[in-house]
Amino acid sequence: MTPFAQAILQWYDAYGRKDLPWQQNKTAYSVWLSEIMLQQTQVATVIPYYQRFLERFPTVIDLANAHQDEVLHLWTGLGYYARARNLHKAAQIVAAEYNGEFPTDLEQMNALPGIGRSTAAAVLSSVYKKPHAILDGNVKRTLARSFAVAGWPGQKKVENALWEIADQHTPQIDTDKYNQAMMDMGAMVCTRSNPKCSLCPVESFCVAKKQGNPLDYPGKKPKKDKPLKQAWFAMLHHNNQVWLEQRPQSGIWGGLFCFPETANGDIQPLLDNRNVNDDSIIKQTQLIAFRHTFSHYHLDITPILVDVSKQPDMIMEGSKGLWYNLSQPEEIGLAAPVKQLLESLPFELQ
Ligand code: SF4
Repeated sequence: MTPFAQAILQWYDAYGRKDLPWQQNKTAYSVWLSEIMLQQTQVATVIPYYQRFLERFPTVIDLANAHQDEVLHLWTGLGYYARARNLHKAAQIVAAEYNGEFPTDLEQMNALPGIGRSTAAAVLSSVYKKPHAILDGNVKRTLARSFAVAGWPGQKKVENALWEIADQHTPQIDTDKYNQAMMDMGAMVCTRSNPKCSLCPVESFCVAKKQGNPLDYPGKKPKKDKPLKQAWFAMLHHNNQVWLEQRPQSGIWGGLFCFPETANGDIQPLLDNRNVNDDSIIKQTQLIAFRHTFSHYHLDITPILVDVSKQPDMIMEGSKGLWYNLSQPEEIGLAAPVKQLLESLPFELQ
């Protein structure tokens, strides 16, 4: 075992997190669920979602048998919805092809939707004590600083260099504790903007600390200005109900429910296509525009509330729509800006 790994393991015994919900009564299913939720989301946010999910879907078979709408509904608010769709697909594969038992082989686990090498290794090391290295965001940061690996880890050659170091230092025994310790170190000690070097078990090895520039690692993503796009939402409203449509599975907000949307500012074709008669329109009100930011662009959204005197006969070809009752909301997955708008709607209507 390398001195680096020894120091990390000693620190874990004293300070590592051992009381998180997914560290109790571990199964491949529960650890996998937590790992997927923890991608891009902090522990404190994940805990209630994790508990609700496990309560509703106690086994991978329960999740596999669920309707996608319910899965997305329980995911609403966690963001990055591709994770929820992949979670559901992976559960269906585990149920159908592996008889409800997660594979114990790294390659097979890695091949499931939404599971990369690091997530597969985290589950297998945590549950079956397999000696696989992990490399999530926290581990990348700690290793990049400790071994002064320059460059942005999104670049393949930088990531490969970090994997090599991770493999070299991951011990063959106590891999589960070492991996958990590395995640904890990144979250608690070697934090993004305020590393607590004086409390760090690997301070004496850390090259960035010696150089006096931990914050220069890992290298930043080369800056590119995000493009700005526009969208107008047609919010058909009648009798405390609004009309929502399910988005196609691929593309933004895939499988989630959203208002009819256009990119050119003219909502009339949206109304015509949904059989909204001019006579039935009581009034149209442009609400305050707001910005929703994706990882690769900004979207400025202008909601237009269209109050109608009766519900038109919707003929929806190839997609699903529903009148969403604001007092008795359906359990469906909502696109984040839709959720935001619906929460503000009663105030807008007053
Ligand atoms: S010494 Fe500081 S920069 Fe280096 S790994 Fe520890 S906390 Fe991070």
